[in-house]
Parts: sequence; C-alpha cells; structure tokens
Amino acid sequence: MAAARTIIVAGAGIGGLTAALSLAAKGFRVIVLEKAERLEEAGAGLQLSPNASRILVDLGLRPRLTPRAVTPEAISIMSARAGGEIARLPLGEAASLRAGAPYWVMHRADLQGALQAQVNDHPDIDLRLGCQFEDVTLHAKGLTVVQRRGDARQQELAAALVGADGIWSAVRNHLFPQVQPQFSGLIAWRGTLDATTLPREYTSPRIQLWMGPDAHLVAYPISAARQINVVAIVPGTWNRPGWSAPGDANELKNAFASHRWPATARMLIGAVDGWRRWALFTLPDIGEWTDGSIALLGDAAHAMLPFAAQGAGMAIEDAAVLAKCLSESPGDNIAGIPATLKRYGRLRRGRVLRVRRAARQQGRIYHLTGPLALARDLAIKAMGPQRMLARQDWIYDWRL
Ligand SMILES: Cc1cc2nc3c(=O)[nH]c(=O)nc-3n(C[C@H](O)[C@H](O)[C@H](O)COP(=O)(O)OP(=O)(O)OC[C@H]3O[C@@H](n4cnc5c(N)ncnc54)[C@H](O)[C@@H]3O)c2cc1C
Repeated sequence: MAAARTIIVAGAGIGGLTAALSLAAKGFRVIVLEKAERLEEAGAGLQLSPNASRILVDLGLRPRLTPRAVTPEAISIMSARAGGEIARLPLGEAASLRAGAPYWVMHRADLQGALQAQVNDHPDIDLRLGCQFEDVTLHAKGLTVVQRRGDARQQELAAALVGADGIWSAVRNHLFPQVQPQFSGLIAWRGTLDATTLPREYTSPRIQLWMGPDAHLVAYPISAARQINVVAIVPGTWNRPGWSAPGDANELKNAFASHRWPATARMLIGAVDGWRRWALFTLPDIGEWTDGSIALLGDAAHAMLPFAAQGAGMAIEDAAVLAKCLSESPGDNIAGIPATLKRYGRLRRGRVLRVRRAARQQGRIYHLTGPLALARDLAIKAMGPQRMLARQDWIYDWRL
C-alpha cells in the first residue's frame, strides 16, 4: 500500500491499539511501534462506560471481551462519615439497554490482550513490539519516522504519525518539549483480592466507591469476577513515574487506620496482599494536539486524574474520531492531512477538557471532611440514584 495510506502509531496501549483497529477499518495500513518487548500484565482494573464500550463493540471486540469483562449491577456510593452506603446507582443490563452499550469493568491486561489479538488478526496492521519511536522529520511526501530496536535504527515513510505513547510521550516531547507532566500530590495504591475467599457482601458485582477524609477507595470485580480490584487514593510526596512500584502495605493501612474509616473499608485494605503504587501525574492543557502531520492521542495529549474513570474511555474516543476524520479527508491527499488532524484536535479538545474538570472536581468532593462531607452526603441522598446517574449522561451518551 502507498505511503499516502500508511499511518504510524507510536504506542500499543489502549489508545494506540484502538487507533490501529479504527484506522485499518477505514482502509489505512497501520504500523504500530511499541517500545515494550511484550505487552505487560502490569496495571489493574479499568472502567469502560458505554461511550467507550460502544466503539469497541463496533470494532467487533465483544466476543473477545465478554468472557473476561464484568458488567456491574450498580455503583454503591459509600461514605466513611455515614459508615456505609448512601446511594446505589443502577447499572447492569437495564442501563446497558438504555445507553445502547455495556458498562464494563475489567483488568487492563485483558482489554489490551483482546485489542492485541484483534490487531494480530488484521492483515493491514503491523504491530512491532520492542520497537521504539525515536524521531520524525516532515517533508513534502509526508513524514519519515525513525524507530529503534536495540541498537538498530530503521526509517519508515508514512502519511501521518499518531503519538499514542502515554503520559511520558516521546512524540509530544518532540513537538512540545516545554509541556511536562505535573505531580498531583496524590498516589493511587492498587491491589487485587481473590474473590473466592471473601464474604458475598464484598464480591457482589458492583463498583464500591468509598469517600472519606482526604482519601477514597474504589473496589470492583475483574477477570470474570474471580478477582476484586482495589484502588486507594491518598495524598503523598512519593512521585516516581511508572505504574507498578511495590508499596509497603503498612503505610497504606496507617492511612486508613483512623476510626473515621469504617471496618468494612479497612477490611478491604487489610485483605490485599502485594500493594503497588502509581503516583498520579497530569498534563496541563496543551492547547494544540497536532503539528503538521503529527497528532497526539490519549494520555499523550491529555493525561488526567482517574476520578471520572475516563482515562481509557477518552483515549478510545480519540482513536475513533481520528480515524473518522482521516477517512473523510479526500483520497491520497498528503497535503490535506495537517488540516484534517487539526479538525480532529478541535473536535476532541472541548469534551476532554470538560471530562478533565469533572475528574478533578469529583476528587475534591470525594475527599471532603467535617461539615462539608455531611453536606455532600445529604445532597447525594436528596438527589436520588436516577438523578445522580443522569448527571453522567453527557459522558455516557456520547456517540461518534
Ligand atoms: C503498564 C501500564 C499500566 C496501567 N495500569 C492502569 C490501571 O491499572 N488503571 C488505570 O486506570 N490506568 C492504567 N494505565 C493507564 C491507562 O492505560 C491510560 O490512562 C489510558 O488507557 C490511556 O491510554 P493510552 O493508550 O493513551 O496510554 P498508555 O496506556 O499509557 O499506553 C502508552 C503505550 O506507549 C508505549 N510507549 C511509550 N513510549 C514509547 C515510544 N517512545 N515508542 C513506542 N512506544 C512507546 C508504552 O509502553 C505504552 O504501551 C496503565 C498504563 C500502562 C502503560
């Protein structure tokens, strides 16, 4: 296939693999460069609301995902101050029918594995593991990407480059070196529990969100409900990049030891063996997401706090919009690609900024203390589950 129909994607994370499938579905040849030798098991649970699952279903991934994904019946909002549940938002089959796509929770590795299997089956996608994006030069015929495998360098001609290489993006660094991730002052502690060893109240298929003083806790089933994913968000100063540094369980237990956390929440914390830490970094609004024939996508463009559970969702939406824009640009017109990519950035930025604001605000609300926590709990109870859920419509009902 001609270079005019070849797109290079840097990064085989959730966004990069979805972009590859979306672009190939529109008739492009795609080369995916991934610096990891193999796609890691690292990470834990991800939530995929209907705005994102709809795209994956349309790409034909449902049969690969349903055996491992869990459809939670509800989101239980729990308040440490109140000592238990203050609202239960129904999800499950009824919500899926309403939104026209499922709400799924799953292990990140299961999602990435399903995407990778679909990519491997596609004749027009070339996934190169252990192959790092290194440099790019723009010219009249498109662009030339330099990739490195060990000590060997190779060049590839393409029409466009998509930087889907995550928060520490080398592609973004090439375009906008002044933009650097900022530490949020929060640390996500993650671990999993064997669901078969827990009483039923902990393992029912729902998402539990515990809000408490200066911290919160999220737990939900993953891996065909055989495991419970537990994430605790606490303030801290430890700020190394990465997703899976080992953490000292006692440090976390101490953070939740206070009598202000009910025994059920402390039990979840105490039951996890093998905590991993992930310092939460975010990107400032970078303004432009593209430069010439190069576009950024997912965390490379807009890494945000995970409190709206939309990190993967926004990367998946970006991928679908990017492919749609490129497919609508006329024929093999290399000269038109920069304008097409600019259009993609314009279409995405407003929505992503709004989700980012919502995530930040949600974090502040979860961590309230004293009379403000009481006011929060009363407001949630007064609102009721259906109105609470309707507040998410603008996120979940998004369509391509
Ligand atoms: C190992 C890992 C574990 C994670 N665990 C969780 C989790 O448990 N829960 C959660 O909510 N989010 C997790 N995340 C983040 C989450 O996947 C993202 O926030 C979201 O899915 C957006 O994905 P993305 O594709 O934009 O970026 P990412 O998922 O970060 O993917 C970026 C990919 O680019 C690759 N890459 C980086 N630099 C280069 C380069 N120079 N050349 C080629 N490839 C490169 C990386 O190896 C990675 O595979 C994790 C991310 C990673 C990488």
